[in-house]
Amino acid sequence: MFGKGKTCHFAAVPERYLAECNLVVLGVMGSGKSALTVKFLTKRFISEYDPNLEDIYSSEEMIDHQPVMVKVMDTADQDGPVNCERYLSWASGFMVVYSIDNMQSFKGCQRYLEALALHRKAIHLDVPVLLLGNKVDMERYRQVSKSEGASLAARFGGQFYEVSACLDFLSVQRVFHDAVREVRRE
Ligand code: GDP
Ligand code: MG
Repeated sequence: MFGKGKTCHFAAVPERYLAECNLVVLGVMGSGKSALTVKFLTKRFISEYDPNLEDIYSSEEMIDHQPVMVKVMDTADQDGPVNCERYLSWASGFMVVYSIDNMQSFKGCQRYLEALALHRKAIHLDVPVLLLGNKVDMERYRQVSKSEGASLAARFGGQFYEVSACLDFLSVQRVFHDAVREVRRE
């Protein structure tokens, strides 16, 4: 049933092709990009993950009764949004992650949102961007309020979620699946 993968935006995809959705996970180091990616792919929380490892992972998912090959690029930037070319043209959607217990990571993710806003303007295409406040299990150490996150997402026209890579799998899966749904809507 599944033929060769083909990058496309879902509409009118011949049945022999498996639609692909390329998601790029961005954010400053330590915000939990790899932990979220690994959780989505394996249902497990891996607490120590090589912070410099950047890779693309694939998972065949069934979302709203439609199969899709979800590819996730787990990025590992050292200094914010530099050398973005490697993912800007590849991406069908972006997930920008910060950690709710770290204001620096929230400030850092604004740089990504700004870079993406410029890119979207330049290509005249509405590539969906989701903003994720990770580590909600660290509520006691919260530095970024939920409303700060929500208003930043609203400012950049993206959906907002608070999640945790070490709590339930389904909430993490829902965020990735919603990202695919957003891409399908475009
Ligand atoms: P990355 O640099 O953005 O890829 O961040 P990592 O995924 O490597 O995570 C950085 C650190 O935060 C690691 O020590 C993880 O164990 C931890 N971490 C990631 N996600 C969560 C989370 O949801 N809750 C908690 N408490 N720790 C997390
Ligand atoms: Mg990482």
